Amino acid sequence: MAAADSSSIAYLNGEWKPLSDCQVPINTHALQYGTGCFEGIRGYWDGSRVNLLFLREHFERLYGNAKMLLMQAPSVDEMYDIAVKCVQDNKMQCNVYLRPVVFKCSTNLGPELSKEPDGYMCYLMPLNDYLDTSKGLEVCVSSWVRLGDNSIPTRAKATGGYLNSALAKSEAVLNGYDEAIFLNDRGQVSEGSAENLFLVRDGVLITPDKTSGILEGITRQTVIDLARAKGVAVEERAVARTELYRADELFLVGTGCQVSWVRTVDRRAVGAGERGPITGLVQDAYENAVYGRDPACQAWLTGC
Ligand code: PMP
Repeated sequence: MAAADSSSIAYLNGEWKPLSDCQVPINTHALQYGTGCFEGIRGYWDGSRVNLLFLREHFERLYGNAKMLLMQAPSVDEMYDIAVKCVQDNKMQCNVYLRPVVFKCSTNLGPELSKEPDGYMCYLMPLNDYLDTSKGLEVCVSSWVRLGDNSIPTRAKATGGYLNSALAKSEAVLNGYDEAIFLNDRGQVSEGSAENLFLVRDGVLITPDKTSGILEGITRQTVIDLARAKGVAVEERAVARTELYRADELFLVGTGCQVSWVRTVDRRAVGAGERGPITGLVQDAYENAVYGRDPACQAWLTGC
């Protein structure tokens, strides 16, 4: 499992300190009630610098999600500058993953949000693959139902909501799978535990729409744009479970997993059980872009 180096420099509530010195009290609101929201941001080492991917987009999402959860994030510019400084001051020379979190830092009893003060942290770790992207994933449909928008909104990327992901992911791993696919409270396909999902049927790229109980993934939108630019038809719509079993191709996308193709779903081979052509097109285009090899996508990257 990837983990941050405890001597790396991290940001907590206005101070820069070694990660091991960044402490919160045991009665912190966010620890007791899951009252935080967060981002995961990747940076790719190109041999001379780390290029952070979609930095502004991540902080715009975090700022808006914090507002939804009655939390006040630092400004987008401030969070952006903290992230850049975190990479620079740690002198990173490898692929990295940043974890910024807005959270309720008070120690008061009770889950009320509006009157409690907000904290902010940002730390990083080296990260290459999150899921093994080479051999094809074995996934299952989870017995756990995706959180509904009127319970804990998946869109919010709320820390507490990740208990839902943790239960599904753990069930999948304990049963010998790599990843879980959630159905939402309407019984339709939503997403993986930490990834959005795409399938291909008859040459059309299909992904659950934004009301399917998904996080509005930055990679998801990127893949939609890349595919359309390459002339692939894309549909955002409700997806039925059994469409997974009839798919010609299936892949998961996200900051962590990047573009990861799926070999089997509920032990049924997806298509020919190989990486499919549209998956290949998208995966190669994404990889070229994030490593700075596509001049048309330079604007995605912030060099540090
Ligand atoms: N869904 C969930 C539940 C996630 O945790 C993530 C990872 N942030 C994603 C989708 C993918 O989102 P993004 O492409 O913005 O990383």
